[in-house]
Amino acid sequence: MRKILADQITSDDLVAAESEVISFGSYLSARHYHAALAGNISVRISEDRLLCTRHGADKGALGPDDIVLCDMDGHKLRGNGIPTSEFSMHRMAYHERGDIRAVVHAHPPSATAFAAASVPLDALMLPEMVVLLGPVALVPYATPGTEKLAEHLKLYLQSHDSFLLENHGALTIGTDLREAALRMELLEHNAQITMYVRQIGKPFVLPPGELEALMEIRTRVNQRKNIFG
Ligand SMILES: [Zn+2]
Repeated sequence: MRKILADQITSDDLVAAESEVISFGSYLSARHYHAALAGNISVRISEDRLLCTRHGADKGALGPDDIVLCDMDGHKLRGNGIPTSEFSMHRMAYHERGDIRAVVHAHPPSATAFAAASVPLDALMLPEMVVLLGPVALVPYATPGTEKLAEHLKLYLQSHDSFLLENHGALTIGTDLREAALRMELLEHNAQITMYVRQIGKPFVLPPGELEALMEIRTRVNQRKNIFG
């Protein structure tokens, strides 16, 4: 990520980042991932600043007043309300992954069902899931909003971009908000297809060497600025 400091952020940058949060809040809510005000969204706009949704905001009807400017410790610098109660997970993600610029936390129904049943999403070997989503971590349960949950998430951040939060919901990260949001959609799609496959039969087993071939493609795709092009 290009290193930008707080005093280099222009008001145009802020407005552009806010409208990105508003737009993807609407996108994710239209897919029922943020039922009953659940979930939160953040974007890192500089080395030491981020925008996040305020606690209790309706992600499907966000306005500029619902988006809070914070430092990386969660201190509010501008905006109404208080930062999301899940700020510690966002902070941990940015602390551990200098390459990311967006975090989405949501409760998509099918993925959350896997999280609530403590069943990992690791059986589906569809090429797009291997290449674009990659392995999905199952992060052990801790009380939402606590540092303990952020510490549990930390264990998986270096090796994963998408996460089931046990008995809670899901979290995805990306080099921009579009990437994090599309990963959330792909994670939910993965969960839905896995349920259908289990009703019909057993997941397809890739031929020898095929998983490695797909992982090589994943490595190449990950070198792009944005994996969804
Ligand atoms: Zn939650």
